[in-house]
Amino acid sequence: MLNQNQVKQVFEILTDTIKAPETELQFSNNYTLLVAVILSAQAKDAVVNIATAPLFKIVDTPQKMLGLGEEKLIDYIKIIGLYKNKAKNIMLMSQQLIDNHNSVVPDNFADLIELAGVGRKTANVILNVAFKQDTFPVDTHVFRVSRRLGLSNGKDVLQVEQDLFDKIPNPYRNSSHHLLILLGRYTCKDKGFDCSTCPLNAVCEKNF
Ligand code: SF4
Repeated sequence: MLNQNQVKQVFEILTDTIKAPETELQFSNNYTLLVAVILSAQAKDAVVNIATAPLFKIVDTPQKMLGLGEEKLIDYIKIIGLYKNKAKNIMLMSQQLIDNHNSVVPDNFADLIELAGVGRKTANVILNVAFKQDTFPVDTHVFRVSRRLGLSNGKDVLQVEQDLFDKIPNPYRNSSHHLLILLGRYTCKDKGFDCSTCPLNAVCEKNF
């Protein structure tokens, strides 16, 4: 596992090389962010953005989503994997926001995790992106690159999340999620990655 100096070095290099460590999902407010993150489970952000571009022109509140209805929502999102379940969850989640939260996306983990379609990772993404909290959501990219780099040797997402929470220093705690995702999406890919062209080549443990 990398020591604290090496971890700091990793995030210094990533911050220098990744200029916009932000979500690639398109959204206009916290509600559309939540819808987009639910839709992005096991789907590419680019595909989600294709579906949500016309959808978010007419729907940007839970009330408008309920007005649209599940069948019409499906028409917009059927290019996205698992769209039937996701449509069901989005309708339920929208009703929950109206009934329990004055139509406002909650800013805390306990309330977020109660919403339909929202698991630990989604709740942490919302807290990180919408509320700028230092959370460490672990998706497939973050899981893979954290283990390859030597940030974690966790066997599951919870262990990796805990290691990232324990090890990542300020000022990188808020941006680390997107730095690691973008590293995994464009450089340290699942297959066909080339360490010789990676900016982290000198410090990475290359655990693969
Ligand atoms: S050096 Fe190789 S294994 Fe390490 S982060 Fe870069 S691409 Fe991934």
